[in-house]
Amino acid sequence: MVAHDLLIIGAGISGLSMAHYAAATGLNARVLEQEDRVGGCLHTHRFGGEMDGFWLELGAHSGFNSYGNLLAILERIGLLGRLQRRTRVGFRMSAGGAVKSIPSQLFFPALVLAPFRLLGLIKTGRTVAEYYGHIVGRRNYAAVFEPAFDAVICQPSGEFPADCLFRPRPRRKDAPRGFTLPGGLQTIADALAGQAGIAVERGHGAREIRRDGGGFVVRTDRGEYSARALCLATPVAAATELLRAPFPAIAGRLAEIETARIESVGVALPAARLPLPPVAGLIGRDEPFYSAVSRDTVPDPDWRGLTFHFRPGVLDEEEKIARIAQVLGIDHALLESGKVVSKLNQLPALRVGHGERTGELSQVLAGNRLALTGNYFGGVAIEDCVSRSRTEFERLRREGL
Ligand SMILES: Cc1cc2nc3c(=O)[nH]c(=O)nc-3n(C[C@H](O)[C@H](O)[C@H](O)COP(=O)(O)OP(=O)(O)OC[C@H]3O[C@@H](n4cnc5c(N)ncnc54)[C@H](O)[C@@H]3O)c2cc1C
Repeated sequence: MVAHDLLIIGAGISGLSMAHYAAATGLNARVLEQEDRVGGCLHTHRFGGEMDGFWLELGAHSGFNSYGNLLAILERIGLLGRLQRRTRVGFRMSAGGAVKSIPSQLFFPALVLAPFRLLGLIKTGRTVAEYYGHIVGRRNYAAVFEPAFDAVICQPSGEFPADCLFRPRPRRKDAPRGFTLPGGLQTIADALAGQAGIAVERGHGAREIRRDGGGFVVRTDRGEYSARALCLATPVAAATELLRAPFPAIAGRLAEIETARIESVGVALPAARLPLPPVAGLIGRDEPFYSAVSRDTVPDPDWRGLTFHFRPGVLDEEEKIARIAQVLGIDHALLESGKVVSKLNQLPALRVGHGERTGELSQVLAGNRLALTGNYFGGVAIEDCVSRSRTEFERLRREGL
C-alpha cells in the first residue's frame, strides 16, 4: 500500500481545490471520488448527436468576480483568459400558472422605507425571514423575496442564517461580473482533475476510515489507501457517516447539520419551438420547483434549455415533465428522452448558530491532521468551498504536513 501525504475524499470543487493547493506545494496527494465523473455540484451535461456542443448546467451555473480564491486558482491553471461573460437577461416569476415580471409582483410603497430599515440592523443571529422580511416588508417578502431566496439556495430559505446567504467580497475588475467557461462550469473541475500532480481515482467510494498510528487508512470499493493526512470533501451527510467510528465527537457535531435534497431536471429543445422570451431563469412561487435556470445567459443559435430544480418528493418523473411542458407552454412530445436529463443534488440546510458550531468543530479538528472542507462552513457558494479548502490546507501545513 503506497503511503500518500494527503488523501482527499470527494472530487467536487472543495476536494479539487484542496488537491490544487497540495499539488502546488509538491505534496503527493490523491483524490478518491465515488462517481465516474468529477465535479459534484459542478455538473454540466454535454449533449451529443444533433445537439453536439450544447450543454446545460444541472448544478451550479455561475461564478462571480468576487470569487477571489477561485479566480486565483483559475489564473494559475490558465483558465482566467477563457472566462465567458454571462449575457444579462432578467429573471421572471412562475406563479399561479403564469410567467410574470418581477416588478409586477412588488409592492413599491413598502420598499421606499427599506434603506431606513437597514440602518443598524445586524445580520448575525437572524434568519433570512427575520432579516429580509423586516427590510422589504412582509408582503414583498412573501410575494417575491422569499421565493427568490429559495431559488438562490435551492431550499426553503426562511430559517437559513442571513449572514450565510450573500457575503460581501471584493470584486476583481479583470474578470466578468458573472461568468462561466466554454463547456460550462464542468470545465473547471475537469481542468483541476487533469492538473499535473493531481491524481483522481474515479469510481472509488470511500467506505471506511481507520486511524493508523499517526496517519489514516481509507477503504474504498476497490482497495485500501493510506496517508499521513486526510481531508473529507464530501457532502456533510457522507462525512458524518465516514467519521462516526474513528471520530465520534466530530461526527456528532456534523450530524446536527441537515441536508436539503433537490431533484433537478434539465430539458433542451429547438430554440424556435420555445415561446418563452430569453430569461436568466424562472423563480417558482407556489410551484413544485424552486427555480428553473436557463442557458439563455450563454445563447446558442439552435438550442435552448432550462434546468428545473424541484422540491423533493412532490412530483414523480412524469409529473415533472408534464409541469415543465405546461410552464414553458410547449407540447409535451417535444421533451423526448434524449433531451431530458436528471440529477439529484444536495446542499446543507444551515441554521442560525452555524458559526458557533463550525467554530467548535475547528477546535476538535485541531492537531489530528484531519481536514474537513465543503459547503457547510461559511456558506454554500463555490467561493465558500474554495476558501474553506485554502484555510484547511494552511492548517494542515501548520500541523506538519
Ligand atoms: C442546483 C445548484 C445550483 C447552484 N448554483 C450555484 C451557483 O450558481 N454559484 C455558486 O457559487 N454555487 C452554486 N451552488 C452551490 C455549489 O455548487 C456547491 O455548494 C459546491 O459546488 C459544493 O462543492 P463540494 O465539493 O463541497 O461538494 P459536492 O459538489 O457535493 O462534491 C462532493 C463530492 O464528493 C463525492 N462523494 C460523496 N461521498 C463520497 C464517498 N463516500 N467517497 C468518495 N466520494 C464521495 C461526491 O460524489 C461529489 O463528487 C449550487 C448548488 C446547487 C445544488
